[in-house]
Amino acid sequence: MPENTIGFIGLGIMGEPMAANLRRAGYQLVVHNRTRSKAEEFASSENADTEVADSPKEVAERTDVVITMLPDSPDVEQVYLGDDGVIAGARDGQLLIDMSSIAPSVARAVFDAASAVGAAALDAPVSGGDVGAREGTLSIMVGGPSEAFDRALPLFELLGKTIVRLGEAGAGQTAKACNQILVAVTIEAVSEALVLASKAGVDPAKLLDVLSGGLAGNKVMEVRRRNFLEHDFTPGFKLALHHKDLGIALRTARELDVYVPTTALVDQMLAALEAAGEGGLDHSALLTLIERQSSHKI
Ligand code: NAP
Repeated sequence: MPENTIGFIGLGIMGEPMAANLRRAGYQLVVHNRTRSKAEEFASSENADTEVADSPKEVAERTDVVITMLPDSPDVEQVYLGDDGVIAGARDGQLLIDMSSIAPSVARAVFDAASAVGAAALDAPVSGGDVGAREGTLSIMVGGPSEAFDRALPLFELLGKTIVRLGEAGAGQTAKACNQILVAVTIEAVSEALVLASKAGVDPAKLLDVLSGGLAGNKVMEVRRRNFLEHDFTPGFKLALHHKDLGIALRTARELDVYVPTTALVDQMLAALEAAGEGGLDHSALLTLIERQSSHKI
């Protein structure tokens, strides 16, 4: 085992099962979470030897590798760059891995701050959802130096199945923004198809069955099938977080003068649902907007 003690910050829907997979593989963990009770609950589960730290700085001081899984760019800025942050406790040669989905520019700022204290930083956002996090089958998109990637690979292999280094700092986050465009646009398209079929009298379940076998087949129809058909929008992936990700995609596209009209449209749909208080639902709840506008529930 190349690195023995791992710090894990952010024990939410994704972070908790990811940290659990590392612990099951035999790593000793020091954990921290904004709501401390979640960290304490994690530490006391599975009869494991896990410690709870009071701050991100303390996590860095007590571990060889720090992994973070936080909601958004400002959270990552605070956890890394704040007075009590990871960088304040980091040391020369330490490995810092942020697996949250955030703006590529913030990933580069964290990389620069880590480099200034001699630490290596990677941005390594993931795809594959809560199921992939539990089963250790995530896709991991990595940006940062290749030596740091090689060091992190044994840990990534416990968390995911498809692990690709895309380039220097920020490149992983750029790939994640692309991933989020595809998932959001697909959910929107599947929702339109389901409502059109259903209002025309075609059984939505049978529609998914037959379309899955052709060119229109996709993972969204497979993984979110039950959510759509049963209107079960327990998250999964919170709609508000997907809205955040399309914001990252749109800002990045604007910086680079890239034309992304469909992303902008779906971003507005998610904005409407969030404004209606539905940001805590699973992103498949986009279906309900299409249903409302069509006066038809599938
Ligand atoms: P989540 O359930 O909201 O979890 C985020 C965790 O971070 C919470 O436990 C939260 O603590 C903690 N946190 C927030 N700010 C903190 C701070 N300043 N210090 C310490 N802990 C802090 O979100 P998630 O679904 O796990 O998503 C995490 C990241 O993964 C996001 O960037 C998301 O876009 C990405 N992602 C999610 C999925 C998915 O399917 N869920 C899939 C791929 C990628 P509290 O307990 O206080 O809230």
